Amino acid sequence: MLKIEHIGIAVKDLQQSCDVFEKLLGAPAYKMEEVASEGVRTAFFKAGPNKIELLEATSPDSPIAKYLEKRGEGMHHIAFDVADIHAEIARLLDEGFVVLNQTPKKGADNKLVAFLHPKGTNGVLVELCQEAPEE
Ligand code: ZN
Repeated sequence: MLKIEHIGIAVKDLQQSCDVFEKLLGAPAYKMEEVASEGVRTAFFKAGPNKIELLEATSPDSPIAKYLEKRGEGMHHIAFDVADIHAEIARLLDEGFVVLNQTPKKGADNKLVAFLHPKGTNGVLVELCQEAPEE
C-alpha cells in the first residue's frame, strides 16, 4: 500500500454536497464523473495532497443507494493507492481478506479498483486502486 488515495463519502444530493465541500475545502470539485457500471456519479476534491470523493447513486439498486438506505450519509470507504493491484489482491486473499471483485474493474478517476468486504476489515470498506495504464 503506497498511501491513502482518497476517502469516499456517500451523499444523497451531489450538487448540494458539492456546495458544502467547496465551502469546506475552499476550492470547487476538480472532476465530476459518472461510473455507469457502479451506478454512481462522483465528484473529486483536493485537500492539499489528499482527495475526497463524493458519491451519489444514479439508480435505486446502486450500492450507494443501498448504503444510504441502511446507514445514511457519511464516510463510505477508504481507498489505498497500490503499485500492482493484481499482486495486492493475491497477497490480501492469502491473508484471508474477502475481496469483493478479484478481477479489478475500471473505477472513477482512471483507476483500476477492487474492494475488500468490510466484515474482514473492522467495518471499513476498503478500496484498492491503481492508476490505469493510458489507453
Ligand atoms: Zn473511491
